[in-house]
Amino acid sequence: MKELLTIDDICVSYGNIKALQHVSMHVNEGDIVCLIGANGSGKSTLLKAIVGQEPLVGGCITFDGEEICRAKAEFVKGEKRGRHLTTDLIAAKGIALVPEGRRVFADMTVEENLDMGAFLVRDENIIAERKEAMYDFFPILGARRRQKTRSLSGGEQQMMAIARALMSGPRLILLDEPGLGLAPLVIADIFEKIDMINKQDKVTVFLVEQNARMALKASTEGYVMENGKIVLHDVSSALLENEQVRAAYLGE
Ligand code: ATP
Repeated sequence: MKELLTIDDICVSYGNIKALQHVSMHVNEGDIVCLIGANGSGKSTLLKAIVGQEPLVGGCITFDGEEICRAKAEFVKGEKRGRHLTTDLIAAKGIALVPEGRRVFADMTVEENLDMGAFLVRDENIIAERKEAMYDFFPILGARRRQKTRSLSGGEQQMMAIARALMSGPRLILLDEPGLGLAPLVIADIFEKIDMINKQDKVTVFLVEQNARMALKASTEGYVMENGKIVLHDVSSALLENEQVRAAYLGE
């Protein structure tokens, strides 16, 4: 199986706070991999580091065999390694982030939001085709395409945020707590869509969630983060049975 994303011994700090400490993980092409952990354990920081929004103070990140981020201290002059791509370039390589809290443009319509997601796509025909595909896949967005996004429900806004990320035609989609603040039935709907995006559209998924049960059920492999460190890694079915996970994250 091909490793699409490789995170190798990365560290990220906010001043004195060591948000990520020597984190290593990998995501194989075609998989759904999840990262679970409590509030403040460093999950969002990891996603921001992958898309180049937080600089690394140690380690490096590779996507499809190409280094996309490396800590400045480890730059090697004259060698190709040591590159740190900008967020735009990382997006152009095929990584799309659906940020926590969805970050929709509330005063824009659904259609305008989807257009924003396609900012890297030059061909108008491809943009139009992708939008139609999104409206087919999320019919509620098709029905609301001319409405301001602020008038959508939380679940609809989450679907729009996912659709917006898919407009760039990514190979890897990073989802930051897609179930946050939503009712259980709506969460189930969204996870079903995530599974379809993975199985039908062959998009690899890296999912960050506080809702450990949903995330582990939806994924093939899982990682557990505590205080900026990976403390467990296994196939998700094994993590669901793991005593430590059951006590700390599944409320058992
Ligand atoms: P949540 O589920 O609440 O989003 P998380 O697991 O995603 O939590 P992060 O948001 O990555 O955790 O935060 C990790 C640590 O870094 C926390 O201690 C947090 O307070 C701190 N932190 C995050 N962002 C910043 C920032 N911009 N400046 C300073 N500290 C930060």
